Amino acid sequence: MHSTNLTYLVARGLIASAVVVVCLFSSERVAQAQDASTPSPQLRRVQRLVDQLRAKLKIAEPVKVTLVPTNRLLMSVEPVKSGEPVKNGAKRNFRLNVEEEFVKGLSDDELRAAVAHELGHVWVFTHHPYLQTEQLANDIAMRLVSRDALVHLYDRVWSRRGTKGDLALFLGPQAQTQPQAGLAPSDAHRP
Ligand SMILES: [Zn+2]
Repeated sequence: MHSTNLTYLVARGLIASAVVVVCLFSSERVAQAQDASTPSPQLRRVQRLVDQLRAKLKIAEPVKVTLVPTNRLLMSVEPVKSGEPVKNGAKRNFRLNVEEEFVKGLSDDELRAAVAHELGHVWVFTHHPYLQTEQLANDIAMRLVSRDALVHLYDRVWSRRGTKGDLALFLGPQAQTQPQAGLAPSDAHRP
């Protein structure tokens, strides 16, 4: 009887422990599911990098990352109004729209190159807004990442899209006006 009781008590203890553990995990899952404002790991990953690189480029304007299901430019940046109207010299906010599946497939180095490129656009927006080109964005990006890293990123983007662009237009010595602030080649910009 004693051994049976002991077994029973041990078993009950184990069950009680198991219940506690399950409850802990369950409540954590419910909390995450219910709290829609909890940033996803990818959002945190991109936002952290944006904030690091933004500081290196001394860009004062906040850049908020938004994950979107699809973005034909894969990643794109745009100025957004926040509270006060945007005026000359006024502080602006920017939003970086990132296609979630695209960013999931990027290595840390690839993501760094992509974010550096987009922050290059933000730098141009805030310093020389009328000179917005892909090449100038890349010139700024190359303060943070190597040219090779950008070449690799373009290869990655173009192979994903099944297109091919002229690297010289984006990275070479000859400037080429590309008014849209995205990563994809110019034909993708057209409506
Ligand atoms: Zn661009």
